[in-house]
Amino acid sequence: MSTGRLAPSPTGAQHLGNARTYLLAYWSARSTGKKLILRIEDIDSPRVKSWAIQQAIDDLRWLGIDWDEGPDVGGPHSPYIQTERQSLYAEALERLIAANRVFPCNCSRQDIADAGSAPHFEHEGNIYPGTCASWQNGDPLPEAGTFSWRFRVKDHPIEIDDLVLGNQNCNPAAHLGAFPITQKNGSYSYHLACVVDDAAMGVSEVVRGDDLLPSAFRHIELADALELPRSHYAHVPLIKGPDGRRLAKRHGDTRLSLYREQGVAPETIVGWAAFTAGLTDTATPRSADEVVPLFAWSKLNRNAIVVHEQETTGWIRD
Ligand code: GLU
Repeated sequence: MSTGRLAPSPTGAQHLGNARTYLLAYWSARSTGKKLILRIEDIDSPRVKSWAIQQAIDDLRWLGIDWDEGPDVGGPHSPYIQTERQSLYAEALERLIAANRVFPCNCSRQDIADAGSAPHFEHEGNIYPGTCASWQNGDPLPEAGTFSWRFRVKDHPIEIDDLVLGNQNCNPAAHLGAFPITQKNGSYSYHLACVVDDAAMGVSEVVRGDDLLPSAFRHIELADALELPRSHYAHVPLIKGPDGRRLAKRHGDTRLSLYREQGVAPETIVGWAAFTAGLTDTATPRSADEVVPLFAWSKLNRNAIVVHEQETTGWIRD
């Protein structure tokens, strides 16, 4: 069965931009009879806040989003939790080591900034210069805790047909470079966990912000190396402030938990999300389920969405 997913990172509160992405994932899945799973991406250990997990779940429910069965533990509709799935990531790493697709790397961020080549994609770090890449499986390992495992990408073109952005191309070696799939402390990276989980959960459609487009090519490379199926992608436009920058604190407080506390009706947010997505003609308040029959990727507004603080604070005052 086709499956979509909601994948919040509990590194802080969920904002308006997250709400819009979750609603689009929900509408897409529900309008095409897909299963939808909830996965909490809590492996980014130093940045994860324990309160943010339940808050993200409460935000989703408040928006009127529901999801299908999770793992057996925790009862029906419980989310998948990445920190409980680390043995799967360990096993994938072992396979990549055995296939010589990774190498231990003790370069610092600064080393790469100094020697790497300029990023190809906006907002990406410098491309890894290959300093530690001559290591072969069987060579001695550096001392534990001093290195991360870095994945070797191939020098070949990859093409994806994104449901929102259309045809997108990338040569992973030229445009991305080898990337870490563990941290020096041994924890697994988002990239590895995401690919292993999407395959294990049968995720066929990934809906997320278009800032993650470069990572789609990383994920395809990893999926191919692990002989896992590729997903379809829908990278949706981000919400920006009037200054053209990605919506952030400086543009005002758009935490969903704040709207909830202040008595803003979730239908207000949903109506706004449907309207800015190009699914409705007005921002009339609506429930999430009312929008399901109106959804089609072909209708989606492909432009970045600009919000003004007056608009979002107005929801609180109304
Ligand atoms: N957990 C990520 C986020 O909240 C999304 C990652 C993904 O969808 O692949 O931004």
